[in-house]
Amino acid sequence: MAPVRKIFVPDAATLPKTADVVVIGGGIVGVATAFWLSKSGLDTVLVEMREGLSTLTTPLSIESFRAQMTEKAMADLVLPSIRMYENFAETVGIPGHDIALKHQGYLFVSDDAAMAEKLKQAVAVHHSYGVTGSEFLNQAEIAARFPYISERMVCGTFHQNDGWLSTHEATQGFAKGSSARFLLATKVTGIDTDDDGICAVRTDRGTIATRQVVNCAGPFAQAIARMVGVTLPVDAVRRQKVHVAPKPQIPRNAPLCIDIGQETYWRPEHGGALMAWVDPDEKPTANPVEDVPTDWDYAAVLLDKITALSPFWADVAETLSASDLTTTAGYYMYTPDDQPLIGPVEAVNGFHLNCGYWAGVMLSPEAGRRVARLVAGEMKPEDNPLRLGRFAEGLVSTGDSFLRGRH
Ligand SMILES: Cc1cc2nc3c(=O)[nH]c(=O)nc-3n(C[C@H](O)[C@H](O)[C@H](O)COP(=O)(O)OP(=O)(O)OC[C@H]3O[C@@H](n4cnc5c(N)ncnc54)[C@H](O)[C@@H]3O)c2cc1C
Repeated sequence: MAPVRKIFVPDAATLPKTADVVVIGGGIVGVATAFWLSKSGLDTVLVEMREGLSTLTTPLSIESFRAQMTEKAMADLVLPSIRMYENFAETVGIPGHDIALKHQGYLFVSDDAAMAEKLKQAVAVHHSYGVTGSEFLNQAEIAARFPYISERMVCGTFHQNDGWLSTHEATQGFAKGSSARFLLATKVTGIDTDDDGICAVRTDRGTIATRQVVNCAGPFAQAIARMVGVTLPVDAVRRQKVHVAPKPQIPRNAPLCIDIGQETYWRPEHGGALMAWVDPDEKPTANPVEDVPTDWDYAAVLLDKITALSPFWADVAETLSASDLTTTAGYYMYTPDDQPLIGPVEAVNGFHLNCGYWAGVMLSPEAGRRVARLVAGEMKPEDNPLRLGRFAEGLVSTGDSFLRGRH
């Protein structure tokens, strides 16, 4: 018997005609969602318009995760997600599957002494969520433990257990560990409804009859929602990042280092570094694109700014040529409270959301599991604080996690 193909480009003969649930979007959020839906016994089909899984926003991220969250609803997603990443081979049931997870830590620092109280409060909140390894650091402690951080930085927080991983390996693990089918190079062009709600997903390769759809379309989640007459409270905001080629001055054992005031950060990557500036003045776009343009001077502006965080970057900059720097861009998706949209949409029976992320890599394992529990009726919609209805219900609390690019 021929092996069942799970990840493939379908033709008229192999396009599934029916599914219990169709997941739209094959980034890390969609693939984690498909994994958990298939685990709950549902015949799950994921539809991805591009030629591979996790080829849009997900690989443009810096692939990092942190337990240092102050919003309860975010902590409730990220903490179990990190546990799943830490036990990934077991989670997906593939012995030895390695996602290159590194616990090099997240270090937030500030040159503003007035921030110290706020950072101490943040650490107290982390501890109240069980993240007891989160520490407040004063100027002397920062200097002693992280000599490559500017002496101007007078306070900070650090959590050694935060870190980063390979999103490629995580995506492949979720896909291979599931019994879902993943249709590549297949674009969703419409969603049909009848008196009972969702009844089919139309694609450029044919129609799949289904009663359940999960919108995991990342920057295109608004376009998908509009197919069923729903407008989502999401904004797409471009976020650029720079990859710096290996240089001897870059400490390989450093954590992800973040200047809270300027919203700049860098972390080591294979002898080189990833770095970014989360520009608070970047405007939302109503028309996100797949090939997100970068600014020609972004790397130079960033290198200049980041020396305030770590002065050694001035020395590195002296030695850099254009070919040492690669700038890429994707989108952060923002909701009014900067927390994702998860779960069923009341107005359209069978239409579910898992979108609206600026930190989808670190939240996706548990968010996918929650969607599966909601679809299977194992969790009541009212017990899910990230439902779309929270805005109309007036249950919104604005978050204050650092590094969102919004204050
Ligand atoms: C510079 C930068 C740094 C970041 N760093 C981090 C970080 O360190 N940690 C973190 O947690 N997050 C980070 N993020 C955010 C993170 O990358 C995203 O939140 C996450 O990748 C979102 O995943 P997704 O699956 O929702 O979206 P995507 O990866 O964009 O996937 C959505 C998929 O839907 C598909 N799709 C859309 N429309 C259709 C259609 N009509 N038919 C079929 N398929 C469709 C797309 O092709 C795409 O593959 C960063 C983002 C950026 C830009």
